[in-house]
Amino acid sequence: MDFPPFRPPSEAYSYLIRVVRGCNWNKCLFCSMYKSIRFEQRSKEEILKDIDDIPKYFPRSKSAFLGDSNPLIHKDIVEIVRYLKAKRPEVERITAYARIKTIANIPEEKLESLKSAGLTRLHMGLESGDDEVLKIVQKGITSEDAIKAGKRAGKYFEMTYYVITGLGGVERSERHAINTARVINEVKPTFVRVRNLTITNPEMEGVVKLLSAEEQLEELRKLIEGIKVETYFTTDHVSNYLFTKRGAFFTGVHGRIPEEKDEMLRIIEDTLETVRALKKSGVEVLTSNDMFRLGLITL
Ligand code: SF4
Repeated sequence: MDFPPFRPPSEAYSYLIRVVRGCNWNKCLFCSMYKSIRFEQRSKEEILKDIDDIPKYFPRSKSAFLGDSNPLIHKDIVEIVRYLKAKRPEVERITAYARIKTIANIPEEKLESLKSAGLTRLHMGLESGDDEVLKIVQKGITSEDAIKAGKRAGKYFEMTYYVITGLGGVERSERHAINTARVINEVKPTFVRVRNLTITNPEMEGVVKLLSAEEQLEELRKLIEGIKVETYFTTDHVSNYLFTKRGAFFTGVHGRIPEEKDEMLRIIEDTLETVRALKKSGVEVLTSNDMFRLGLITL
């Protein structure tokens, strides 16, 4: 059995099925996930065999995740999803990573077939809604692609849009937050999941000026303030945490927008005050980049 090397945190208990290996784009400067893997579509026979073998490797689950970064481009993807659903009828949720460019260009009938086969949710990397930022980090999409893809996928599936705070650096922090909220407002994704830019790929070194703890919180606040549509917003990843040498004192915000928006903004405001007070008293505040460099977190 061949497993996807990465999966979203929300798929921790899912059956993991590797449909393709690596990423067919693999050029985003901030991403180190698949840099050492040559992209290929696995053979249908191998994948169906892995589906047959699920009970040997996984405890019973109601969800399945398809990897690696863009499995919807596999030529037999509809058949694979249909087979998975038929073989494992206990599965209620089938999810996959999907590249925005792929979804923007895929025929709509294929999305419809995937839905009837059993696919239920897509995890898509928006990262930024700002065209200048997208270009600088070589994401290979525009905000227009993201809006088009999101609107199409939203007709058939639940969607997660991933966003990277800090991706525009100090230089473009404001426009990054404002334009990302703008795309989210157009697309209305089911979930927005935030990661804070942490340099794991040397190619991203020096491309933008990294945010301080305060700047990171201010950008997060601006992003949440800008979101006017119903969605579930979460910073469910260690890259968003803030630390002192004694441990994490900020572990992110999570909640439904609009119902829990004010509460999330209040937590951010309180944390900003804490950061200022810590700095004033000479305590060092560490971001995910500091912690990663010190080898105190892994991503
Ligand atoms: S962020 Fe996604 S599209 Fe970009 S290189 Fe990484 S896996 Fe590929």
